[in-house]
Amino acid sequence: MHEQAVSDAASAPRLAVRDLVVTYSVASGGLFSPRAAVRAVDGVTLTVGAGEVVALVGESGCGKTSLARAVAGLVAPSAGRVELDGADVTGFPAHLDSRLRAAIQMVFQDPFESLNPRKTVLATLTQPLRLNATVPPGERRAEAARLLALAGLPPEALERYPHEFSGGQRQRIGIARAIATRPRLLIADEAVSALDISIRAQLLALLGSLQKELALSMLFITHDLAVVRSFADRVLVMYLGRIVEEGPTAAVFEQPAHPYTRALLAATPIPDPVAARATPREILGGDVPSPRDIPRGCRFHPRCPLAVARCATEEPAHRLLPRAAGAAVAVSCHLAS
Ligand code: SF4
Repeated sequence: MHEQAVSDAASAPRLAVRDLVVTYSVASGGLFSPRAAVRAVDGVTLTVGAGEVVALVGESGCGKTSLARAVAGLVAPSAGRVELDGADVTGFPAHLDSRLRAAIQMVFQDPFESLNPRKTVLATLTQPLRLNATVPPGERRAEAARLLALAGLPPEALERYPHEFSGGQRQRIGIARAIATRPRLLIADEAVSALDISIRAQLLALLGSLQKELALSMLFITHDLAVVRSFADRVLVMYLGRIVEEGPTAAVFEQPAHPYTRALLAATPIPDPVAARATPREILGGDVPSPRDIPRGCRFHPRCPLAVARCATEEPAHRLLPRAAGAAVAVSCHLAS
């Protein structure tokens, strides 16, 4: 089990995820072979405090999206617990209060797939208002226009369909829909990754201003560490179903403890070419191994440039390391200091 996540909001977290496991059943070979259980999320513990932005980073296939979907109740975890302000919401059971159900919302990577092409923006935005009965019927149109304005779109957009918008505008509609129920926790799953760099900056600024204005707690999921530096209060680094490093953003960026975190940082572009040439880089080889075949010992050891014999047999503990100004990070590496 992980040590308590490093958080000054840990005493009363908005979101508390404890020892969460998400397992998928996959074909193990031929048509008649028995199916194998794959642990996409393998015992994750984390917290997000009230009004806190926590970034969850890692390569594709590390389990980030499975974790997000389990927190949002879109897949049922096989073990563990999800709490929102102390209430058990694990798996979003059918009897769960609709207000709790609406209190966690998600913004997805592909806004085109997550919006119904046959529904106008007005219908898309008023549906959650209708389901949760938070706004009287006569005020729903005005509320939809207010949500659109918050997301940076004009009221004329209400009568249009998703295909009439650009990718960035569609993501603004997805964000407006996600905040319609006044959620307590917003999960943004690679929400800006598919957009051009200038649009990405605009959408990040929008998410940042909404987070402050609405005092939202946010779990921000991305494969790109660069985008979280000025955005997140804390960073969690995930590798093959586990959190391998976590801590305040400044501490993780200034003194990354895990070789995987250093490799992710090395993969982020440095805009100044002189500084880029002067910066030593630990470039990571290979892909994330399949969760069907998790390596023994430290699960990162087949790709780790620092691996020693012990790493192949002994799983590292998740332990606290002190950092500047009284901060601390938690890291799963035998050699980290
Ligand atoms: Fe690398 Fe060993 Fe640390 Fe794992 S425990 S990250 S293999 S040095």
